[in-house]
Amino acid sequence: MKVALLDRDGTVIVDPPDLRVDKVEKIELFDDSITALKYLADNGFSVIYITNQAGIEEGRITEEQFWQIHEEVLRRLSESGVNVLKTYMNGEAKRPDNSEWRKPGPKMLLQAAEDFNLDISKLYYVGDNQSDINAAINAGCKGGILVKTANENVESPNAIYTAPKLLDAVQYIVENTEY
Ligand SMILES: [Mg+2]
Repeated sequence: MKVALLDRDGTVIVDPPDLRVDKVEKIELFDDSITALKYLADNGFSVIYITNQAGIEEGRITEEQFWQIHEEVLRRLSESGVNVLKTYMNGEAKRPDNSEWRKPGPKMLLQAAEDFNLDISKLYYVGDNQSDINAAINAGCKGGILVKTANENVESPNAIYTAPKLLDAVQYIVENTEY
């Protein structure tokens, strides 16, 4: 199974100025999000979303509200036709080993690989900041791909590829994934 692991906020949808997608009104797609996801679908890839949600830990939204908002995100992205296997979300402050689950901890990525019987060493994880790249490396991914869509000045010393936009990132994945 071909799978791309993707961050959500700042990668597939716009991170609002306060960095919290805590209302449906704050959902905004990047201009190439549908095209990029369609490109993955056309090349036989499914996606898994892996997202930290600090807004839950902060008490701004409940977990239930997150899933309601996320359902709307998925609905808006659905015209891409891409198959979404699952979304892994970390917003639980109470978990004793939370640091392992919250990116840059590797647990969400490792859990995704286990749940879908994927070889993590063949997978890329795309995100918009250094903690995403570190999560990819900590989990043993083939590489972390940095997208500059949310912040054009962002840099990473250990990203396997830095993509101007999500479409460039997914093209890299399609060209470099080996099975
Ligand atoms: Mg992000």
